[in-house]
This record gives sequence, structure tokens and C-alpha cells, in this order.
Amino acid sequence: MACSKYEYVKQYELDDRLLPGCWIVVRLDGKGFTKCAGAAAAEVSLPFVRACRFCDMHKFEKPNDERALRLMDEAAMAVMQEYQDIRLAFGESDEYSFVFAKDCQLYGRRASKLVSLVTSCFTGTYVRRWVEHFPDTPLAATPMFDARAVLYPSDQTLRDYLSWRQADTHVNNLYNTCFWALVKSGKTTTEAHAQLRGTLSDYKNELLFSEFGLNYSTLPERFRKGSVVVRQRVTHVKTTADGRTKEKERLEPCVLHCDIIRDAFWKERPHLLA
Ligand code: ATP
Ligand code: ATP
Ligand code: MG
Ligand code: MG
Ligand code: MG
Ligand code: MG
Ligand code: MG
Repeated sequence: MACSKYEYVKQYELDDRLLPGCWIVVRLDGKGFTKCAGAAAAEVSLPFVRACRFCDMHKFEKPNDERALRLMDEAAMAVMQEYQDIRLAFGESDEYSFVFAKDCQLYGRRASKLVSLVTSCFTGTYVRRWVEHFPDTPLAATPMFDARAVLYPSDQTLRDYLSWRQADTHVNNLYNTCFWALVKSGKTTTEAHAQLRGTLSDYKNELLFSEFGLNYSTLPERFRKGSVVVRQRVTHVKTTADGRTKEKERLEPCVLHCDIIRDAFWKERPHLLA
């Protein structure tokens, strides 16, 4: 390309290559799924506050709308299909974390490229596949996701990061399960928050069991543990024109709902941290 007198402006683009040898995590999170962005509740009228929350707007079931969680998982699988450098992903609520290999050289490890491409691939898929998961609820707002790239310098810090997210899934889900049980039983949201403030998990488990006949540990693992996406061998069976069947194995992103805090998950999959 011929040089022009304007070309000097290119120098203003800063180098944002991520440190070599570190795990790269890109975490994205839905914008304003329950909070009202840009306006404190007191500053705007209540109907507006309600209307601008993505979950309320699309009548997400509380505490967990499984359709929305499956849609998140699907968008994450699309990102992993697109970017083979991603080793695994972890998702809960309105967030997903994507782990790029330590030695990944994709886009020269430029943070803005990785963050923007992951986020647009995810968001685009979320929109494109919405109707399959919410056939009776038209998409009434533009879903938006913020994202960041964070570096983890060792296998241990990466595992601690993922443990942190899964522990968060559990803490939030236990709280939200109690909160919505109380609200559905007639308490106001203020009363429900007040009753749960400062309580330990034993109290919450007992509350669910004795007042609502609910054994927390029997709730779906998807809700309690979040979603882990890893590549696994999937067998596809094809029937040929002459009626014979042919099997083909492919590595494909698969969604699991299992513990990733303890060692077992990692011992069964040594390639993840290799
Ligand atoms: P921000 O823009 O700061 O991220 P936010 O309102 O999205 O604001 P988060 O901290 O990300 O706040 O919380 C996400 C909210 O969305 C939580 O309250 C969570 O319960 C709700 N949510 C996300 N996914 C689901 C789902 N599948 N079913 C029910 N609620 C959900
Ligand atoms: P990269 O992924 O590196 O950006 P690219 O193929 O998108 O690769 P660009 O330098 O961004 O490369 O160039 C965009 C290309 O798309 C150009 O060739 C341009 O002519 C074509 N293009 C973009 N928009 C239009 C349009 N509206 N009509 C016709 N061609 C278009
Ligand atoms: Mg956020
Ligand atoms: Mg959010
Ligand atoms: Mg969130
Ligand atoms: Mg380009
Ligand atoms: Mg381009």
C-alpha cells in the first residue's frame, strides 16, 4: 500500500500483545442482565428500571432459566469450534470464561483481537440461536457482553481462577435458590434478602429442606456446578447409499456439568494443562 502523509497515525496504535508463556483467559459477561446500567434505581421511574433488565424483559425463570443457560452453552461451543486454540471454557449465569493455551500464537496474542473476536462470535451466535431456545419469546433487546483478557502465569493460578468461578456458581445458586423460594412463598424481596443476609450455607440448606422440602444436592448439576466445555471424541454414524453404516470419530466441544475444583477432573484430562 502506498504511503500517505496520513500514515503516521498508525503509530498511535499501541502494542497489546499478551505476555508469552501465560494462560490467557477471556471472560465475558452479559451487560445489565439484572442491574440497570447507567442509572441508579432511584433516579429513574420503576417501570423503566424493570424494562431495561434483559432477564425480566425476556421473562427468565428464576432462579435459573435453563433455556438461557443452554443458549450460553451453545454460543460457547460455537466460539470453541471457531478457535481451536481454546482448551476449555467455563460458564455460569450470564458469563463465560475461555482458556487459551499458554503457547497460543493466535493473532500474535493481541489482546484486543482475541477479546473482540471471542465476544462478537459469542454474541452473534447468541442472537442467531435465540429463537431455537426461546421460540415463544422474541428477542426484544440487543444482548451485549463485556469482556476482558486476564493472564495466569502458572497452572496453579489458572486452576485457582476456574475454582473461583465454580465456587461462585455454587454460592450464588444456593443464595438465589433460597431467595426465590422465599419470594415465591410470599415474602417481599426486601424481606427475603434480610432473612438471608450473613447466613452460612448450612442455614440455607436447612431452610430449603425444612421449609420447602428441597434437597439442594438433588438440583440439576447444571445449576450447581455451571458448564464446562471440553473437546471430546464424538462418534458419528452415517448410513451410506447401499445401506451400510459407517462410523466417524471427531473431536468436538461438549458441555459437562461436573466438579473442576478437585483433582479428578484434571487427572482424567492431563492434556488440558499440558
Ligand atoms: P453487569 O452489566 O454489571 O454485568 P448484570 O445485571 O448483568 O450487570 P451480573 O452480576 O452479571 O449483573 O449478574 C447477572 C444476573 O443475571 C444475575 O442476577 C443472574 O441471576 C441473572 N441471570 C443470568 N443468567 C440467568 C439465567 N439463565 N436464569 C436466571 N437468571 C439469570
Ligand atoms: P481480516 O480478517 O484480516 O480483516 P478481511 O478479508 O476482512 O480480513 P479487510 O482488510 O478487512 O480484510 O478487507 C475487507 C474486505 O471486504 C475488502 O476486500 C473489501 O473490499 C470487502 N468489503 C467490505 N465491505 C464491503 C462491501 N460493503 N461491499 C463490497 N466489499 C466489501
Ligand atoms: Mg459484569
Ligand atoms: Mg452481567
Ligand atoms: Mg454475571
Ligand atoms: Mg482486519
Ligand atoms: Mg476485515
